[in-house]
Amino acid sequence: MTVAKKINVNGIVQGVGFRPFVFQLAAAHNLCGRVSNTSSGVTIHIEGLSSAIEAFARELTENPPPLAHITQIIITEARLKEYDEFSIIKSRSHGQRFTLISPDVSICDDCLKEMLDPGDRRYLYPFINCTNCGPRYTIIDDIPYDRPKTSMRLFQMCDQCQAEYNDPMDRRFHAQPNACPVCGPHVELLENTGEKMVSNDPIAECITLLKSGHILAVKGLGGFHLVVDAENEAAVKRLRQRKHREEKPLAVMSLDLATISQYTIPTPEEEKLLLSPQRPIVLLPKREPHRLADSVSPNSRYYGAMLPYTPLHHLLLKDNFLALVMTSGNMSEEPIAIDNQDALERLQTLADYFLLHNRDIYLRSDDSVVKTINRQVRFFRRSRGYVPRPVFLKKPVRSILACGAELKNTICLTRKDQAFLSQHVGDLENLATFNFFKKTIEHLKRILDIEPGYVACDMHPDYLSTRYARAQERIPVVEVQHHHAHIAACMAEHQVADPLIGLAFDGTGFGTDGCIWGGEVLLASLDQFKRGGHLAYVPMPGGSAAIKEPWRMAVSYLYQAYGRDLGRLDLPFLAAHQANNIETIIEMIEKGINSPYTSSLGRLFDGVAALAGLRKTVAFEGQAAMELEMAADLSETGEYAYAVPQGAPLAIPMETIIQGIVQDVQKQIHLSGISMKFHNTLVHLFTDVCINLRQQTGFAKVALSGGVFQNSILLSGLTNSLASKGFEVLSHTRVPSNDGGIALGQAVVADAMLNKI
Ligand code: ZN
Ligand code: ZN
Ligand code: FE
Repeated sequence: MTVAKKINVNGIVQGVGFRPFVFQLAAAHNLCGRVSNTSSGVTIHIEGLSSAIEAFARELTENPPPLAHITQIIITEARLKEYDEFSIIKSRSHGQRFTLISPDVSICDDCLKEMLDPGDRRYLYPFINCTNCGPRYTIIDDIPYDRPKTSMRLFQMCDQCQAEYNDPMDRRFHAQPNACPVCGPHVELLENTGEKMVSNDPIAECITLLKSGHILAVKGLGGFHLVVDAENEAAVKRLRQRKHREEKPLAVMSLDLATISQYTIPTPEEEKLLLSPQRPIVLLPKREPHRLADSVSPNSRYYGAMLPYTPLHHLLLKDNFLALVMTSGNMSEEPIAIDNQDALERLQTLADYFLLHNRDIYLRSDDSVVKTINRQVRFFRRSRGYVPRPVFLKKPVRSILACGAELKNTICLTRKDQAFLSQHVGDLENLATFNFFKKTIEHLKRILDIEPGYVACDMHPDYLSTRYARAQERIPVVEVQHHHAHIAACMAEHQVADPLIGLAFDGTGFGTDGCIWGGEVLLASLDQFKRGGHLAYVPMPGGSAAIKEPWRMAVSYLYQAYGRDLGRLDLPFLAAHQANNIETIIEMIEKGINSPYTSSLGRLFDGVAALAGLRKTVAFEGQAAMELEMAADLSETGEYAYAVPQGAPLAIPMETIIQGIVQDVQKQIHLSGISMKFHNTLVHLFTDVCINLRQQTGFAKVALSGGVFQNSILLSGLTNSLASKGFEVLSHTRVPSNDGGIALGQAVVADAMLNKI
């Protein structure tokens, strides 16, 4: 008997080859009907034998196309319309637009094969793509996801492309960015004066220029890259000077795994990450000896490496380079350039030549950065390839806009049980980044069709994100404490809502007492928290100057441990500074001049690094801490004496730890040993703190969050130590533990607080 059903499918089902998949599935089961995109997903009207429809629905659920992500399938009875075929019909707009948009996807193997086939009409065409690959999020301006709503609207398909696009059996059926050399986008090469260079093979020209040590600005998927040959030390150095990026490691790209393995040692898990369609930058241990220039990643044990994700990358790398430096196309701290004209202006002094193309990028999206720690993926930056995939929450929440923090800003919008964390926005310290922040909010609101009823932000009164939130008219603002948001982000990610112990370790966060927090042990639920403990306060002489100059923190810790007598200590670190400089710092501490109190673990790392002679100043926040981690001798098992006082909230003293380090420095114990002993001490100290709190509260879960947990020794050490004492340990694997994940926490806390009102 012939019956009819209506099947609504929600999730990431547009732009991922879902309708052709449905079409082919219907054909295989001898079914008739219709399929179309709607603003909430895909809707199918299907007619045929009920057993065939059942089989059809089963396969739909169990074997969707690789890039699809189904969140819900609703099957209802429908009226028989007696169709005599199955067809795909045009999109219609609905009142509510709940569809999910696919992130950008790296070139697939089929397209790669075609591109390298001399007989193919897209031979060496840098914009080849299909239903399974290519740009998505970065070229979409509105939904539903159809060509006129993307930056491909300017390109009229040629007959051949149109025929592919119309043919449900073709792998380019309804591939919105479909294009070929006849009808699609093109590259062109320009001098940095804006002068066009006449060439019938601009890509070959680029390769020659790179080989001779020039710096190129290359327009990619989510923005411009600055590119140089990673084997050319002089070129890499010049790039660093021009970009004002003195020491931060630069990302590199190589053609394939075998090539990346020439200078790094990836594990099988890391190889899988490199090969994933998201193609993130993966931090990999260096393999020595190798041929990459020293300036690519100085003072680090790691390279940030990735595989090519656009056809253009393949064409640049193939048979040409061991690796190319591919760093974001911006002056340090500004947003990455996406627009041709903007790039020519802003990158003019950075690049010698520009490889442009005429497919517009609507929204910038930096490369994502991940590292495996304790065999799990950790996001240092969650951006291209992952955004705008939602984080699924335990239960539905209000529609909230969370504005994030100041550094490594991302924003978050929620809708029902989905939280959409934006791509990396950057440090909200200049107008350009702040404008990008506002643009990201508007763009995400539009393509996700979310009109937030509430806005959440940090408590810090001076963050631009907080000011933006407070300036929203008619929308109630909920302020969320920074470290509470960190812990809540971790809870949200794990769909946990019961109260637990949260270790929130980072550099800076505004505390409820006006001090700078950052070494926090919280007793937290989503709607509230209590401080169970924290590092004892020390002054930060000079405020933010102490972040750039870790030696100031070292003096502050020494003062806490020894008082004025610190001047008499025989320490190379003190000898390296003029006595009156040290005296000035001591005076600032004693008189409380511009010396806010902090409990930050990030600052403790800085102070210890300076004390142990690692470095006096840093080029970027967290650099000293990162290098201290790198220096550690993992075989060292010793630790320093520490005390865990009773009482709540307990202030955890650091004096004995500092004294232990001073003694080791005086005994000329190598930095590697001091570093590891310091890490071991923190692991044991905080395990003891958690055991105490478990006795008091009964909480047996611990959530680990905050930027300090990018430190692998601390994250693995605490995870294993706490687990061995019977704790369930939650850490981040979907969003960054640093401030890039904080907007997610702000959103869920705001919702939980509103529930109480
Ligand atoms: Zn493809
Ligand atoms: Zn064409
Ligand atoms: Fe933080």
